[in-house]
Parts: sequence; structure tokens; C-alpha cells
Amino acid sequence: MLSQLERLLNGCDTMILMKILNYIMFTLFLANSNWAAGADFNNLEEACVNDLRKFAGAADVKLLKQACEKVVVDLPCVSAEGRPIFHYQKLSEEVGAKKILVFSLIHGDETPAGTVGRYWMERLEAIAPRNSWRVVPVLNPDGVKYKTRTNANKIDVNRNFPTKDWESSAVSNWKKSTGGNIRRFPGKEAGSEPETKCAIHHIEEFKPDFIVSVHTPLKVLDFDGPKIASPPKYDYLPWKSLGSFPGSLGRYMWMERNTPVLTMELKENLPPNFGPFEKLQDIIGTLVKLESRRATVNVEEPSSKYLSLLSEK
Ligand SMILES: [Zn+2]
Repeated sequence: MLSQLERLLNGCDTMILMKILNYIMFTLFLANSNWAAGADFNNLEEACVNDLRKFAGAADVKLLKQACEKVVVDLPCVSAEGRPIFHYQKLSEEVGAKKILVFSLIHGDETPAGTVGRYWMERLEAIAPRNSWRVVPVLNPDGVKYKTRTNANKIDVNRNFPTKDWESSAVSNWKKSTGGNIRRFPGKEAGSEPETKCAIHHIEEFKPDFIVSVHTPLKVLDFDGPKIASPPKYDYLPWKSLGSFPGSLGRYMWMERNTPVLTMELKENLPPNFGPFEKLQDIIGTLVKLESRRATVNVEEPSSKYLSLLSEK
């Protein structure tokens, strides 16, 4: 029996073996976890389509189904209440492609962010992108369920990342700068939340060159990254730096790990069509290229030049 298993394993491709092991571990994990939304795991594709179609704006059902066929849930990506935090990935075939990681709905009550995640997944199904994209369209599914900024443990996931200053200042900063606003509670411990752990898993496993975090309602593009003299023109939202906080994704990734983070703060209402989101996806694709070539490229050249040269299509 053992030798048969050995023969089988020897014949296996390492990737297939890893997938089998991952599946077994995930099944064991689920069997031992006390989750409330277990039904969501039974048909991930259907859950993906149903969950994402609920967000405002018209979905392209054909492309959405196609994208949802490809979503997976990695081992640590189960919410506090046991909902799956699935992700979609589209790799570029271009030489020199960069890796872009998108988190939508780290705050559960900012649902236009879910529309952007869904639209980008659909669009990636329709194009051959310059860059490789991983999209986590709903990072905080419990927050979406309860229409709360925080997760089911009432913690602001975007204040829970284990930044170096977390121990010394996350809670004191929260009290001082927000007056103890319960919507922004960073938690009792750095990195305590399952949603934070899932985000960190994607960061460590995908190793992105660039991160996009989609929010509402401040109506700005807040870029934590190297100084760009002339940021690509974008009429829909102005570029404005909002700063970062102890435990925030921007501080964790840009200030401590040198990976740029673009925080998209959308309007509360969606635009009449998805043109602005399409353009922004292309701008991000351009920014990641600019960032990686900034040592050799004069970024003060008119940005339209890059936009015409490089489109995410
Ligand atoms: Zn937010």
C-alpha cells in the first residue's frame, strides 16, 4: 500500500501534489472549524456570481460566470464567521509583466468598491493584460453581510495590519485621533483578524509589485508610493495624499515594505458607465510600469505619452 502511494506520488507533478495537499488540509480545516456560512463553500462559483451580482451597476453575466469559474479560496482565507474570501487571478503572458494585487471591500459597508472588483474581474476575462492581476473582490464578507465597516469581531481590518508601531500607538492613536470611534477600532492585538491574515497571505504568496485598495467615499486617489512628479491624468477623481495610520495597509506595505499602495476612495454613487473604472485600471497598469522604471524614465514627461503607449488591453 505504502509503496503504491510512493509510486503514485513520485509520478505526480509537484504542483498537482501541492494542490491535492492544499485541498486535503483545507477540507480538514473546514471540518474542524465552527463556521456559520459553510454552505457558501459547496459551490464557490455560484456563491461568487451571486455575491458579486448583488453590487450595484450592471454585471456582464457571461464574463462574470467565466471569472467566477476560476476563483479559489486559499487556506487562511476564511472570515471570522467562516465565509470564504475567494480570489480571482489572471496572469499576463507579456515579458516584464508586473504583479498587481487588488483588495476590494476591506471595509464592508463601502459596496461601490465591490462593483469595481467585479468589473475588473469581468474585464480581465475579456483582455490579455500587460500585467498579472490578482483580485480579492470581497476581503471582508462578514462586514458586507452586516453592512459594517468592521469585520464580525467589530475590528477595522485596515487598522489591524501588524505595522512596527502597532503595539506602541495603534490603540492610543485610535483614541486620540478618532475619540475612540468604534468604526475604527484596531483590535486588541496586531494582525489578529482572519481577514488581515488572508490579506497578508496574498501579499506573501503573490508578492505584488503594486497593491490597490478600493474604498468609498472620500473621492480621491491616495497614492502611498514614490514621488511621481506628474501623476497620470484622471478626471474622475483627484490625486490627494491622505496619510497613513498605525495598522493600515498603506503603512504596512509602502512605509515598511516599499510596495506602493493606491487607495481608491470612490464616490458613493457609481458613474453612469464603467468608463472611469476601465481608465483607472489602465492607469494602474501604467503606474506599476512607471514605478518599476522610475530610475531610468523621466517621469516629468507628459503622462499622456505613457497612457497612449501603454493600455491594459
Ligand atoms: Zn474604507
